[in-house]
Amino acid sequence: MMKKYLDHPIFKILSDIADSEALETYVIGGFVRDIILQRPSKDIDIVTVGSGINLAQKAAKQIKPHPRVSVFKNFGTAMLKYGDAEVEFVGARKESYRRDSRKPIVENGTLDDDQKRRDFTINALAISLNKDNYGELVDPFNGLEDLENKLIRTPLDPIVTFSDDPLRMMRAIRFATQLNFKIYDETLEAIATNKERISIVSKERIIDELNKIILSPKPSIGFKLLDKTGLLSLIFPEISKLKGRETINNISHKDNFIHTLKVLDRLAQHSDNLWLRWSALLHDVAKPATKKFSPQFGWTFHSHNFLGAKMVPGIFKRMKLPLNEKMKFVQKMVDLHMRPIVLSEEIVTDSAVRRLLFDAGDDIDELMTLCEADITSKNKDKVIKYLNNFKLVRKKLKEIEEKDAVRNFQPPVSGELIMETFNLSPCREVGTIKDAIKDAILDGIISNNFDEAYQLMLKKGQELGLTTTKDS
Ligand code: ATP
Ligand code: MG
Repeated sequence: MMKKYLDHPIFKILSDIADSEALETYVIGGFVRDIILQRPSKDIDIVTVGSGINLAQKAAKQIKPHPRVSVFKNFGTAMLKYGDAEVEFVGARKESYRRDSRKPIVENGTLDDDQKRRDFTINALAISLNKDNYGELVDPFNGLEDLENKLIRTPLDPIVTFSDDPLRMMRAIRFATQLNFKIYDETLEAIATNKERISIVSKERIIDELNKIILSPKPSIGFKLLDKTGLLSLIFPEISKLKGRETINNISHKDNFIHTLKVLDRLAQHSDNLWLRWSALLHDVAKPATKKFSPQFGWTFHSHNFLGAKMVPGIFKRMKLPLNEKMKFVQKMVDLHMRPIVLSEEIVTDSAVRRLLFDAGDDIDELMTLCEADITSKNKDKVIKYLNNFKLVRKKLKEIEEKDAVRNFQPPVSGELIMETFNLSPCREVGTIKDAIKDAILDGIISNNFDEAYQLMLKKGQELGLTTTKDS
């Protein structure tokens, strides 16, 4: 009996209406799955054998103050908000599909028809809200058993289910990742069989699912499944190309796909920032394109950070990710991802720390979190050594920021003042002097204040053969 789960006040209201109107009514889908798994869920899906819109309007009248009912006539659905819950209403339906679209042809149907159109057995569970069997679980496909066994499985023939709506392939892998479930063998094989059908799914829907995979506790589960089914090379060839190791003269480089997934999983334990997780996913994306072997140095990936940052906009554009400051953040992280490591390998000088602070600005903490996740060596001593060095770098970062405030560096002497002092119009000399001042501050030659910067400006001007307005 599922009565104990039905504590939201909407259920009592719906139960009363269902009985007085003689409407078979159920709560169904993700909500039922999540309450059984004891996961928080705010979306309540209601299905009724009749008009969902009608039921929503009747329910709204019983709630004080009356919530607004949003009606989506084209879909035959309605939605209202009650407390912290979004309640969706739909009439039970039967669906059939054409080859070229994932939008079904819809007709009225029974509860059983409605459960058959659902993607997975664990998403097809329904609980009755009618008085005579209130709280009874209707589970025609053994969804409860699959929940207990942690299995993702389609209610009907998976080949047909995935071909009808190929988005379900992404959903299967997303649920497996979010819930740490296994995809049933036959279901997984059917994804591989239907992988090319992903081409009829919009980029926006694909990225929604991919982002949910990336935000899961252990994103590598999803990427390994995408790879295993062949979807990865179709939706994300750049990541697929990271796979594999090459050996020359008995020297191998690491498998950058495996490495990237380790970094992403490690990062996921420390940050829920979607864009920092994207940075982890893309930090080595240019390794295949920059890979070289030389007998002297072995495998190198020179400037892969730089090229990687340059690849980000193309990837974001194709995948319909935002082309705004989120993308810039990812570019910056990819570009800078090796700086703290290089720094921690050497004696940590104030000057190098100041430059890192200057380049990373307010994103310095995220950058450090990414770099710590990037230490994936199998050698435990090495990992400990690196992580200890990072602690030192973090300490230095704090000290220097408190002392010199270079995180959001503003030049203490402006371009205008330089032009005014030497009676210049905008020209190269202005930039040269500004850079000299910036470098001197970052290298600790002068302090970050106006007086010292002003003196240096006069000195540099003299070196460049400029005269001040006061001289003439
Ligand atoms: P979440 O809210 O975490 O995304 P969910 O299972 O609630 O998970 P929704 O997209 O909210 O997913 O859909 C609600 C329900 O509608 C699902 O549980 C499932 O029964 C059904 N459903 C959603 N999308 C599909 C689909 N593409 N094919 C078949 N059934 C679907
Ligand atoms: Mg939902």
